[in-house]
Amino acid sequence: MRDDVAVRSGRSYRVASPPENARVTRELASELEYVLEKFALEAGFHERDRVSVGFKPGVFGHHRIGRAADIYTVGGIGLDEWKARWDHARECARATCDPRASGAIAAAERQRNLGWRLYKAQQFHGRWAQPYGYPIQLFGPWTREEGPWKYISDRMLRAHRDHIHVAK
Ligand SMILES: [Zn+2]
Repeated sequence: MRDDVAVRSGRSYRVASPPENARVTRELASELEYVLEKFALEAGFHERDRVSVGFKPGVFGHHRIGRAADIYTVGGIGLDEWKARWDHARECARATCDPRASGAIAAAERQRNLGWRLYKAQQFHGRWAQPYGYPIQLFGPWTREEGPWKYISDRMLRAHRDHIHVAK
C-alpha cells in the first residue's frame, strides 16, 4: 500500500470534490497545494472568500501510481466552459476593428478567466514531471496556445479539453 494522501484545501482555495478524487503521493499533493495557493492569492481570493477547485480521479499512466491529478472545475465552472469563454472573448477581440477595444477585451478576459489563470499558474509555479523523451507533464485546454508542449497532438488536446492534468 502506498501512503497516498488527499489534496487538502488551503487558506485561499477549497477542494470541492471528495478526497478520493485526488489521492496522490505526498510529493504531488504538496506541489499542488503550493501552486493552488499561489493561484488563489494572485486571483484575489482569501480566507473569507476561497475559490473552489474540483478534481476527478484519472486512470491511465501516472494516475495509476498516484503521481498525477486532474482538475475539472475552478470557481464552480468546468474547464471546458472556461475555455469556451476564452475562445469567445478572443473572437470578439478579433472582430472589432478598434485595436484599443480589442486589447481591452483580451485584458479583461485574462483577468476574469479563472480557468486560464489556473493553467498559467500551473505553468509558472509548478515543477512537473518530465520523463526522459517526453514533454513536461502539464496538459489542458490551453496547451497548444500557451505551452509548455505546443506540439500537442489533436488527440491529446481533445483528451484534455475539459481538465488540467499534472504529474510529478
Ligand atoms: Zn490526467
